[in-house]
Amino acid sequence: MSISDTVNKMSSSGAFSSPDQRSAYDDENESQMNGEVHSHLEKSIRPYIDLIDTLRSIGIHKDLALPTIVVIGDQSSGKSSVLEALSGVALPRGTGIVTRCPLELRLKKVPGVNWKAVLTYNKKTGGFVNFAGPIKASKMVAQPTHNEKKIEFADPSLVEQHVAEAQNELAGKGVGISDELITLEIMSPDVCDLTLIDLPGITRVPVEGQPEDIGKQIKRLILKFIIKHETINLVVVPCNTDIATTEALKMAQEVDPAGIRTLAILTKPDLIDKGTEKNILAIVHNTVIPLRKGYIMVKCRGQQQIDDEIPLKDAAQMERDFFQNNDYFRCLLEENKATVKCLAIKLTQDLVDHIKKSLPQLHEEIKKKLWNVKRALKDCEDGPPEDLKGAKEFLIKILNRFNEQIKSLSSGELVSEKNLFVELRAEFKKWNDYLNSTKKSFNPSNKLSQKNRGRELPGFSNYRLFEKILQDHVAKLKEPANDLLNAIKDIIIKQFADIVSECFQNYHILQNITKDTINNIQLNQLEKAEQRISEQFKMENRIFTQDPIFLKILSEITNEIYSEKELPVFDKRCTYSHMLEAYYEIVVQRTADQLPLMITFYMLQETAQILSTDVMKLLEQPDVHELLSENSDVSRKRKELRACLNRLTAAAKEISSFLTD
Ligand code: GDP
Ligand code: MG
Repeated sequence: MSISDTVNKMSSSGAFSSPDQRSAYDDENESQMNGEVHSHLEKSIRPYIDLIDTLRSIGIHKDLALPTIVVIGDQSSGKSSVLEALSGVALPRGTGIVTRCPLELRLKKVPGVNWKAVLTYNKKTGGFVNFAGPIKASKMVAQPTHNEKKIEFADPSLVEQHVAEAQNELAGKGVGISDELITLEIMSPDVCDLTLIDLPGITRVPVEGQPEDIGKQIKRLILKFIIKHETINLVVVPCNTDIATTEALKMAQEVDPAGIRTLAILTKPDLIDKGTEKNILAIVHNTVIPLRKGYIMVKCRGQQQIDDEIPLKDAAQMERDFFQNNDYFRCLLEENKATVKCLAIKLTQDLVDHIKKSLPQLHEEIKKKLWNVKRALKDCEDGPPEDLKGAKEFLIKILNRFNEQIKSLSSGELVSEKNLFVELRAEFKKWNDYLNSTKKSFNPSNKLSQKNRGRELPGFSNYRLFEKILQDHVAKLKEPANDLLNAIKDIIIKQFADIVSECFQNYHILQNITKDTINNIQLNQLEKAEQRISEQFKMENRIFTQDPIFLKILSEITNEIYSEKELPVFDKRCTYSHMLEAYYEIVVQRTADQLPLMITFYMLQETAQILSTDVMKLLEQPDVHELLSENSDVSRKRKELRACLNRLTAAAKEISSFLTD
């Protein structure tokens, strides 16, 4: 059996085996190609492609994967040639790596307009440009700020230059690559309705100036696109290579083992090795590496034709002639497995089918994501409004809340995990225990011995000595009293600081100011309290208590009844030490209460009051926004979430209205 017989047999056993079917298809196909039913087709496909383009313009591809066609292939496999043939526009070409950023090509068939193109990309202004541009150290920590650059032009010959410039800006001059998307929208009566993304070609050997791992970098970038289930992978493979082992096809197979979303384009059929036609035909007929979407063979302009400046229109005719005159591949025309035109129609239909299929799921996903983002935003929302009035009101609100917290803390209402009054009471108990430990029996044989006797006759006691013994003993309490004061101060400062952190969580400037304020107030109050303690001990230097109190304690100690009626005759030497003990007991009881009361008053109550007033003075600060400047990660997160929310909301609206139309 001759090869042409085989081919005929293959073709007649293909999808269009029945003559009726075939002619019906051929008619439709023919008229589509001549643009007769194209307008009818357009009505049904354009809206879908437009919807996805709109969603991508909204930026939703940052949040979700969109139905897309990406073009991948080894370097010089003919990617650009295919895209050129599809778009009718010369794209940057040359040897080595030419496509250095993902290039989204939006082709829009607009009847009756002059050729027009819009190039958009996000111009980087931060310090994140790979090679070009001065890098300011201060910008490195900042978010890279994007601003969109848009260039409109009406001369197809400018495409190359503008794309190259955009690439230079995004990936740096030279040979580096970038993940940033460049969008080229082309409106013309002569293009098909299609959006596809061109990716850098796979290389193995770095050229001069390229990082060692350029091959890896490119593969990583390609993988980022082709791994998504929403992507149709268009794999460009030259016929004159070992098709089955090309890197691009291998990558596509890895992410889509069943070949459901992979379409292969076989280029350069005119450069084929004589004798391999049969094998190649078998591949196109999907018997070697089966792909659900199959294979299409195209013949683009060769280098010679480019050098001869053969117009794309003529090239299309030459392509047709090539297939018609090729004994092996002629059959592919009938099977709709050859020519760029056929590819364009198939791609458009595939893309639209794909969009139709994924739309409900996409809608669901957007709604789900929207809900999540709203929730996440709530967690870090309540940020300060941008306008001055709003910001001021916001400041009042958070200051009031802070004051309320301080108030409940100081009045002992706040029951937090670390209850202030529990901590204070523990310190007070320590103080009380300490005081009790300083009590002792005043043994007359010690201090009241003969050694200390004055001019009095035996049997008389010296009141001055009595006073001196007590004064000395009480004075020793002053230092521990100051220790107590400091311990209390530390506890209170810590608790106040906790409230500051909690209330002004995201506002570091406000936090610092309030913490400083608290420290200043406490310093002042500490001085006052020290002064007051010092005075207290000066007073204690005078031995004083009310008679009934003294007698009551004395009775308790001695188990004898002393009454005021006996005064002043019970001055008996035997009760001298008891009287000392009784008086000291009174001092202990007095200071056990007095000091905590005093310290709490100065360090907590008064501090809280002064703080409330001082904090409100912050409202007089001229720069409210400065005061409310947030910790960078919080504001960044909120900004991102808000942007995401806007995108999702817009996208949800687009899809809803599309589905209800
Ligand atoms: P890319 O690196 O994948 O974008 O490859 P190009 O589109 O730049 O093509 C590489 C070279 O192959 C160019 O010189 C093209 O003219 C040439 N080429 C592409 N397709 C064909 C084809 O079908 N036939 C012939 N003869 N040459 C082709
Ligand atoms: Mg190229």
